[in-house]
Amino acid sequence: MAQNKKSVPSTKQEKHIAELLKKMGMSVTDIEQDFVNYLYNMLGRDIHSDPYDQFKAMSYTIRDRLMTYWKETWNAYNKDKTKKAYYLSMEFLIGRSLSNNLLNLGIETETEKAMYRLGASLEAIEEAERDAGLGNGGLGRLAACFMDSCATLQLPVIGYGLRYEYGMFKQLIQNGFQIEEPDHWLGFGYYPWEIQRSEYTRTVYFGGRSRHYKDPHTGELTVHWEDAEEVLAVPFDVPIPGFENKTVNTLRLWSAEAAEGFNLSEFNQGSYFEAVASKSEAENITMVLYPNDSSENGKELRLRQQYFLVSASLQDVVSQWSEKYGNDFSDFAEYNVFQLNDTHPSLAVAELMRILIDDKKLSWEAAWTIVSQSMAYTNHTLLPEALERWPVSLFNKLLPRVLEIIYEINARFLKLVAMKWPGDQARQARMSIIDPDDNVCMAYLAIVGSFSINGVAALHSQLLKEGLFHEFYELWPERFNNKTNGVTQRRWMASSNPGLKALLNEKIGRHWITDLTQLSKIESFVNDKSFRQEWMRVKRENKQRLADMVEKDTGVKFDVTALFDVQVKRIHEYKRQLLNVLHVIHLYARIKRGDTDNWTNRCVIIGGKAAPGYVMAKKIIKLINNVAEVVNNDPDVGDKLKLVFIPNYRVSAMEIISPGADLSEQISTAGKEASGTGNMKFMMNGAITIGTLDGANVEILEAVGEENFFLFGLKTPEVAKLRGHYYPENFIEEDSDLQAVFSLLESGHFNQFEPGLFDDIINSMKSSKDPWMTLADFRSYVNAQHEVALAFQNHSRWNTMSIINSARSGIFSTDRTMQEYNDDIWKLTPIK
Ligand SMILES: *Cc1c(COP(=O)(O)O)cnc(C)c1O
Repeated sequence: MAQNKKSVPSTKQEKHIAELLKKMGMSVTDIEQDFVNYLYNMLGRDIHSDPYDQFKAMSYTIRDRLMTYWKETWNAYNKDKTKKAYYLSMEFLIGRSLSNNLLNLGIETETEKAMYRLGASLEAIEEAERDAGLGNGGLGRLAACFMDSCATLQLPVIGYGLRYEYGMFKQLIQNGFQIEEPDHWLGFGYYPWEIQRSEYTRTVYFGGRSRHYKDPHTGELTVHWEDAEEVLAVPFDVPIPGFENKTVNTLRLWSAEAAEGFNLSEFNQGSYFEAVASKSEAENITMVLYPNDSSENGKELRLRQQYFLVSASLQDVVSQWSEKYGNDFSDFAEYNVFQLNDTHPSLAVAELMRILIDDKKLSWEAAWTIVSQSMAYTNHTLLPEALERWPVSLFNKLLPRVLEIIYEINARFLKLVAMKWPGDQARQARMSIIDPDDNVCMAYLAIVGSFSINGVAALHSQLLKEGLFHEFYELWPERFNNKTNGVTQRRWMASSNPGLKALLNEKIGRHWITDLTQLSKIESFVNDKSFRQEWMRVKRENKQRLADMVEKDTGVKFDVTALFDVQVKRIHEYKRQLLNVLHVIHLYARIKRGDTDNWTNRCVIIGGKAAPGYVMAKKIIKLINNVAEVVNNDPDVGDKLKLVFIPNYRVSAMEIISPGADLSEQISTAGKEASGTGNMKFMMNGAITIGTLDGANVEILEAVGEENFFLFGLKTPEVAKLRGHYYPENFIEEDSDLQAVFSLLESGHFNQFEPGLFDDIINSMKSSKDPWMTLADFRSYVNAQHEVALAFQNHSRWNTMSIINSARSGIFSTDRTMQEYNDDIWKLTPIK
């Protein structure tokens, strides 16, 4: 091989290359030129081709325009010794990227003009993009909003996740039932936004055993992980542009590939078939996203996924460090911080120990100092069914060396507990990372290994300290803090609500796009007649856009003057879609008995996916659809009431839904919703919340005041107090409206030809063990909904409430959230 032929460009040549790259223009003509070039010359299509091909040509055109900034950002982060944060998350629910990237590059208008000249429609091209659905719901969408805000704040943060071949399933509704279809979002090629970086491929090990021996040369005790199977982790980088600031951050997604020359020994033994089969087993790791939100995925493949993410990402960071600083890790923790998005990546605590001790030969004490100063953990739920516990036996089989390290971490931790509470063995058992049933408790591992532990809304963080993690709080109160969630206004206002964007820009300038607290300025226009009219016009247009979508997806026509009452989120009993349905049935019963004086027409929209194995959630979807069928086809009802279930709720659907909503339903049992972020998207876009005192609703209420919020329901301590003494039958007995609702349900009115179908649902609500206490909140919910109906009749009052809700939503920007993470936890310096 002619290795000596490798040429190194001179400074002159590098300058020449830089000149050539600069020619990437942002004018209408430049964009038009490149788009046509990609469409015709690279893809071999023409202007009459499929919108998806046009989307591909457009995304390459735009990606080119990010590339120089992207390289420059990467180089700037790696030039000097710069502290960086790594956001480790099993989910990034990105959605579409084209319109967002155009917004952040500041070339929306130019691109629109370029397409107009070619007789193409930018809107149709944007519509053709498939959602990158690499997440379940709030937790994954939060990670995507965080990435956007970090790039806008120019924080050196790198996202690490998995490149699932199949993302969140596509939901179809057939005969009222949810049907799941696989989401092969990559088509048969690549995601046009990503760049494969094979040169950063890492190797992850599974199985085998660990052997302890004395190094024959140094005499030191050494550990070797032997006979493991190897899986390659190949990174695909996705650009994350900041808003008009030339920063482009990186989201690195790992894809599993069988190691080259996989199981060669098996080949040689003639086991051709087994060898090839094991290749597909390796590649299975990143095949599919687990579709469960807020519930445990207790499967071996899931643990493999978690370790794969953690090991590949940590190796990536550590080897980049070693390339520069060799094996000097003395100040590693000063320059690197890992944020764990829930317990899913909490193996990072043990894996970084393993790398530092086994590979980098650090002592236990030195390694632990580094690990415990560089890990930070975010808790996302108090629901016991979501707390991850993995059997020791599974760990032993899959990650024997990692298990040894966890045992050692636990032994040293329990010693500490014993020092603090001498003789309290029961406490040691309760706090042990290994539970009495021989499971590894991932939350405890994360807590023991982290210098910061945060909840995601004020109430939730408080409940963590009082309940779930109380004993850890007693031990380490200084580690606990709150970081209230947010959403990015770039996607959730500027991009998804162009009418509102134009109105805001005209009235208060465009500074709100990077400083959402500026929104408070619109409050001074709250009595300005023309502003108020414009506000209503924008909402009306957005309602029309939503009504069009509803009609296309469900065939049901909405009257845009009616109240648009919306609940979209994952289907879960704690979120209480059932309470919403009970109210719809109550309204239906009122119409049927002629109790319609002073009526407010209402269109109720419910949407969301149920985990495929969550039987009750799927029944709830069926109930919603059956009630809708009856309500929408009863001539007595007419325009007074409509109910639809919107299929396949996802990010791109929410971009139409949140601007078009009047009323935002946030009705979880108090103490169960950690934060919620859907609530914030609605508020920003001028919807008013009907909600319980739960999650971030508490802070929304505090911002807008009781007169601009429909509050109802038991408070968290009341829920706790009622537990054990909850008798739903009493609530039915005392409430004739609830009786009417139940007699319709129990008579089979909504399942005439499907007898017994809803028995489980009915029984669960009537059970004194119902953890969600749906019937306890029925009366107060119906009363609050009555207030809603009256308030909506006074268009002027409603409009004021709508303006105030949006005006006071500034604190719910992820720009604020990220600033707080940085000030209190990461302590990074922004890089301009
Ligand atoms: C915002 C969002 C969520 C989170 O909604 P919550 O109401 O907070 O549960 C879930 N899914 C999608 C697609 C979202 O955009």
